[in-house]
Amino acid sequence: MNRRLTRREMLVEGAIALGSLAVAPAFPGCAVVAASKRKIRLSYDAVVIGSGFGGSVAACRLAQAGLSVAVLERGRRYDINPFPRNWHNPLDGWLWSIGRGLFDLKLCQEMTAVQAAGLGGGSLIYANVHMRAPEAAFDRGWPRGYNRAALDPYYDLVAYMLDINPTPKSRMPTKARLTEVAARELGRAAQFCVPNVAVDYDAPGIEHLNKFGVSQRGCTSCGECCIGCNFHAKNTLDLNYLAVARSKGADIATLCEVFKIEPVATGYKVFFKDHANNEQESEISARYCFISAGAINSTELLLRCRDREGTLTKLSPRLGDNYSGNGDFLAFAFNTRESFNPSTGPTITTGIVYDRTDDGFKNWFIFEEGGYPKELHAILQLLNPHWGLFRAVGFVVKGALQNAFRALGGKVGATDRISDETAIFLMMGRDLADGEIQLHPRTAELSIRWKVPPNLALYEAERRLSTDFATAMGGNVAINPLWRLFHIPATVHSLGGCLMADSREDGVTDASGEVFEYPGLFVLDGSILPSATGVNPAHTIAAVAERNVEVAIRRFSGIQNWRAPEAALAKPVREPLGSVTIPAGGTLPTIAQ
Ligand SMILES: Cc1cc2nc3c(=O)[nH]c(=O)nc-3n(C[C@H](O)[C@H](O)[C@H](O)COP(=O)(O)OP(=O)(O)OC[C@H]3O[C@@H](n4cnc5c(N)ncnc54)[C@H](O)[C@@H]3O)c2cc1C
Ligand code: SF4
Repeated sequence: MNRRLTRREMLVEGAIALGSLAVAPAFPGCAVVAASKRKIRLSYDAVVIGSGFGGSVAACRLAQAGLSVAVLERGRRYDINPFPRNWHNPLDGWLWSIGRGLFDLKLCQEMTAVQAAGLGGGSLIYANVHMRAPEAAFDRGWPRGYNRAALDPYYDLVAYMLDINPTPKSRMPTKARLTEVAARELGRAAQFCVPNVAVDYDAPGIEHLNKFGVSQRGCTSCGECCIGCNFHAKNTLDLNYLAVARSKGADIATLCEVFKIEPVATGYKVFFKDHANNEQESEISARYCFISAGAINSTELLLRCRDREGTLTKLSPRLGDNYSGNGDFLAFAFNTRESFNPSTGPTITTGIVYDRTDDGFKNWFIFEEGGYPKELHAILQLLNPHWGLFRAVGFVVKGALQNAFRALGGKVGATDRISDETAIFLMMGRDLADGEIQLHPRTAELSIRWKVPPNLALYEAERRLSTDFATAMGGNVAINPLWRLFHIPATVHSLGGCLMADSREDGVTDASGEVFEYPGLFVLDGSILPSATGVNPAHTIAAVAERNVEVAIRRFSGIQNWRAPEAALAKPVREPLGSVTIPAGGTLPTIAQ
């Protein structure tokens, strides 16, 4: 499907290749990253925008099917470069908004969202948990053909590619044991489970090749999963799906951020900024275009194309709808009776399901124990009820984050603690997915509208259960201050905005992720999920991407039974949630009011 390049195209190609080899504007203390060591041509069969769970699956399968593929990823590569670790300067490589760093924070008025920027997307900083959405999650707004049974073979395939397994008993951190004990004390033992995680538990710290021939090391339990694993013990997407895509000829360019898509006679023209090359604007064209920039960014890109650039004017009026924060809720317990040791990882190893109707609202959520790098201990103590929130606010007001770091007297980054009595709790559940991603009509600024009152019953149940666990552990509960003070939820699991549906009146794409009115234009990522999964969603995002790219490849190639080569190797995987039992009438009410 490749064609010969014209002389002009070769010149432009040379320029992009040179640019992509150029050294990125460095942030101090962090290794510089080149955009790509490969050339980017001007034309491909398929271009994939973004390299998270949707984009990596798409790139891998399209390349395996013999299409020429380009991946344009806005962030840096971390497979060959270390993750940021400068604890004395919060601006050094940490933030996307400052120096194209790893974390992209969206501080919208009604929702705070955290996402990743980098090759491998959210897998770089996620907590590795893979959980299948329970059957009931598909009842709300999913197009025809979607249910758990239909997705199970694709979940199995993702499980094979990412080598998921429950944390072995011998590797369970103390925090997992304490959470299980607390669950038992609270009468919730039957809802306790050990989720599958994409972690390499082989010989700690020892280098070996994974099944795709990529070098990894075994998990050392360092607890740094959510700031990037420098051991590559997390089975992140750059080490499997993207490595296969690359081996099948896909060109992968990092620090290339797409800002416009335009339909042309031969497919789509994709315009991007080359952050490694003085923000030079370039374009490539492809017959097929897969947008996989994540729920917020894919929606924003399409909104800009429809409402500002005027290139995709026929997009559905439903664009931006059904945004969900996946019911995320964050809480802490300080001064626990026994040391919780939250910095001995991996970040998440256990879960407890809550499933009951409270005041007429059907609540379903999962409570997971969390963790954080030991260097964050001191700054998190600012949330300790014994310290008082005002002191924390004082630090920040005095001189923003950097001064707050200094004011702590260098305690951030201190690594001499041997025990830590701070527990962290992460919850996610089935919110109503009734938010909206918008561009301000005048300023074109991104905003996320989120209605708290209809979802309050869920957040309140999550707060009460956190209080019960904190009390059972002998600690004092502390709730995410943004929620406590302003009722602004925070999420790391944004979903929706480009929902799949059976018609353009109801959604942005069809049931296979192809955009209504735009043949050959696809969205494959968390934005097409019509409702909250209620569990960690990456597994479902990847499984839906596997399903949809298979449909697309069968159509492109005319091979009706095309399957991913690894489908033959994937075995049915036991979903730990399946062993959870829910009593008739629901799980116990909380003790806390
Ligand atoms: C701290 C943290 C912990 C988490 N833990 C878990 C967990 O344990 N389990 C779980 O299931 N989920 C977890 N998540 C959520 C999970 O990471 C996301 O749900 C998932 O990554 C979303 O996949 P996606 O394909 O939709 O998009 P992403 O993975 O976000 O990928 C989108 C990619 O597109 C790139 N991009 C964006 N805009 C552009 C553009 N204009 N041009 C080019 N590239 C672009 C981004 O840089 C990114 O690499 C966690 C998230 C965070 C932040
Ligand atoms: S705990 Fe997380 S960051 Fe540390 S080695 Fe294991 S997987 Fe990597």
